[in-house]
Amino acid sequence: MNSFLQNDLTNIEALLQLTKEYGVDFLKNIDKRPTSSKENSVELINQLSTEGIGAEASLHEFIQRFESIIVSSTGPRYLGFVTGGSTPAAIVGDWLATVFDQNTQAVKGQGDISAKIEFETIQLLLDLFSLPKDFLGGFVTGATMSNFTCLAVARQWFGKQLGKDFAKEGISEKVTILSATPHSSSIKSLSMLGIGSNNLVKIKTIEGDREAIDITDLEQQIQELNGKPFILISSAGTVNTVDFDDFEAIAKLREKYKFWWHIDAAFGAFAACSSDFKHLVHGWENADSITVDGHKWLNVPYDNAFFFVKEQHKLLQIETFQNSNAPYLGNPLDNFNYLNFLPENSRRLRALPAWFTLKAYGKKGYQDIVDNSIHLTQQFGQFIQENNSLELLAPVRLNTVCFSLSGNENQEKITDFLARINDSGKVFMTPTVYNGKKGIRAAFVNWRTNETDLEIVKEIILEAISTRKK
Ligand SMILES: *Cc1c(COP(=O)(O)O)cnc(C)c1O
Repeated sequence: MNSFLQNDLTNIEALLQLTKEYGVDFLKNIDKRPTSSKENSVELINQLSTEGIGAEASLHEFIQRFESIIVSSTGPRYLGFVTGGSTPAAIVGDWLATVFDQNTQAVKGQGDISAKIEFETIQLLLDLFSLPKDFLGGFVTGATMSNFTCLAVARQWFGKQLGKDFAKEGISEKVTILSATPHSSSIKSLSMLGIGSNNLVKIKTIEGDREAIDITDLEQQIQELNGKPFILISSAGTVNTVDFDDFEAIAKLREKYKFWWHIDAAFGAFAACSSDFKHLVHGWENADSITVDGHKWLNVPYDNAFFFVKEQHKLLQIETFQNSNAPYLGNPLDNFNYLNFLPENSRRLRALPAWFTLKAYGKKGYQDIVDNSIHLTQQFGQFIQENNSLELLAPVRLNTVCFSLSGNENQEKITDFLARINDSGKVFMTPTVYNGKKGIRAAFVNWRTNETDLEIVKEIILEAISTRKK
C-alpha cells in the first residue's frame, strides 16, 4: 500500500477526530461567519504533486487556502435563493452515508440492499406531507433532476397516448406542454428531454397580483386541443411570490380531460406541514407526479431532492429508465431496483440524511420549522410594509418576501443597495425582477433562523437605507 494511504489508514481515528473538531468549530461559530465572500484573491493551482501530502496536511492546506471562500450559507441569515441548512440529525445521516459508501440500487439480493432504507424514507415523507401511499418515489440530486425525472415519465406517457414508445423510438411527435409560471428548471428539463423549451404553451395567470394558473384560460386551452393529450406543469410555490395553483380545480379538470399532471412543489410542499397553510396543497394528491427538494425546507445537506410518481405509472417509469433486463413489475418490493427507475445507475445512500432528520424530529419538528419560517417571513414583510423607503413587490404568501426601494426613481439604485446589504457579511439576499420591477428576495427556510436574526437583518437594511440617503 502507498505509504501516505497506509499512514492515513493507521491514523483514521485521529484524522476523523481532527475533522470533527474543525467541523464542530465551523458550526458553533456559524453566526459569526460571513454570509458573503470578499475573497477574490484565492490562487488556483493547476499541477498535482507526484507524492501527495497525506490527509492531515491536505486539511491544513485546505483551511489555509480555501476557508475564506466558504460562506455561512447553512447559517440563519442566508436568505438568498431558497437555501436550507442542515439539521444536526441530517448531518449525522450525511456523514454516515459517506462512511458506509453504499451503492443504493436494489432492495433484494445478496449484495447491497440499502435501497430498503430509501424505500422506507419515501414512505415517511409521504406521511409527513399527508400524501396517500399510492405514490412511489426516489432520491435525486436536486429539484431540477426531480422535475427532469417526472417530466421524462410524462413524456413516455404522452407518447403512449399516441401509440408510440418515445423511450425506444425517440420523439416523433410534438409534445404539448401547458404551464403558467414554471420554474426555470422545468424549462431546462424540456430542453434536456428533447421536448424543446419553445414548445411550452403559456396559460394565463389569475388577474391581479397572482402567478397562479387562470383555470378558465386553462380549460379554454384544453378545449382547443380537441381531445389531444398534454402535460400540465403546475406550481406549489412559485419562487417570486410563492403562489399556489388551485389543485382542487385542476383535479376536477382531470375528471373531464386527459393529461399528465405534474406539480413542482420544491419547497411549497412543506405548506402541508402547517395547520394554517396546508389548505394550499389540498387536491395535490391527485397529481401524477410531484417534485420536492430536500436541501431547501427539509434542511438536509445539498445534493438532495426526491420525486413522487403514482405507482400506477411504474411501467411507464421503467420503460423510461430501464437499464437492466429484469424490470420489476409486481409488488414494489419485489426486485425493485432504482437503476431502472431514475436517471442514475450508481448512487450514494442519498436518503440517509432525510431518514435521520425525519426520525429525529418527526411531524411536530417539521411543523415547528415550517411555522417558524412563516412567522418570521410575516414579521419581515410587515417591517418592509411599515418602512416608507421600502415597498413590497408582491403580497407575502408563505415564506418569501419580495421587495424593493419605493419609488420608480430608485429602481437603478437597487443593485447597489443590495450589494451594500450583502457586503455586511451578516445577511445574504438575492436580486429578482417581478412585474417588470427590480427587487430583492428573502426566503426563509433555514431551521436555525430566529427573531434575533431578524433584528440583525432589519438593522442592516436600515443602515443601508440611511447611508444611501447621505
Ligand atoms: C429550487 C427550485 C427548483 C430547482 O431546484 P434545485 O434543487 O436547485 O435543482 C425547482 N423548482 C422550484 C419551485 C424551486 O424552488
